Amino acid sequence: MRRGVTCALVLAACLGASGLAQGKATGGGGGATAKAKGKAKAKVAARSPRRSCADLPRGVRLPASGTGFQIPTTWDKRGLSWGTPQLVGLIKRVAERLAEDSDVPLRVADISPRGGGASAWHKSHRRGVDADILFYMLDGAGSPAPEPRAMLVFDAEGRGAARDNLGNDMPPRRFDTARNWKLVRALLEDRAGNVERILVARTMQKLLLDHAREIGAPTKLIERAAAVFHEPTRAPPHDDHFHVRIADPNPPCTVIATRGKTQRRR
Ligand SMILES: [Zn+2]
Repeated sequence: MRRGVTCALVLAACLGASGLAQGKATGGGGGATAKAKGKAKAKVAARSPRRSCADLPRGVRLPASGTGFQIPTTWDKRGLSWGTPQLVGLIKRVAERLAEDSDVPLRVADISPRGGGASAWHKSHRRGVDADILFYMLDGAGSPAPEPRAMLVFDAEGRGAARDNLGNDMPPRRFDTARNWKLVRALLEDRAGNVERILVARTMQKLLLDHAREIGAPTKLIERAAAVFHEPTRAPPHDDHFHVRIADPNPPCTVIATRGKTQRRR
């Protein structure tokens, strides 16, 4: 809703300016008429703003694997690996940092489809600023668990469910709190500083923040984590993965006037 309103306002402002410019070019007498036409166009644009806004026109693809990360097969097949350069850059930098002291890959699930927009799996994930990241998890022996076929729900004690989200029986799994905290820390300490939200269940938040206090993590970092953590109320609680959202680097629909015509710039 907010996106549509913003888009409508920007478009309206630009079309109005364009109408004035045309009036000047065709002679002073037509100014009032051109202005009126411009206003009429702006009204039409305001009624149907979404048609003018592409979602991810300049996305870049996260490869299926790279230094410190992989897209597990289940998600790689979907092809939702397109994001803004800012999001893809963040994922690569974070994975590289985590790879400095661990060979367990960061497992990235869905980002956005090529060109953005809706997909069969997501209502959000349209503009390349959202990424699902699987939790790090341990097996029954306390070793890093292998690549999963589906997401797995964890309870408040960090125990994995008996079945994954596709109904496959699962051996014992535990939420790898220490590695998951390192991931959160790397996200929040990234040089771009553009992580806006991390959607994750309150139960997982508690495990992570308790751990951070126990190991003496900086207070400011803990406060920042607590501020960006969010359990959705109108969506599943995210007890099976992190959903990371960065600040949108592109206004939803920026319109500029060029040579008497209007062009959208993203
Ligand atoms: Zn998500």
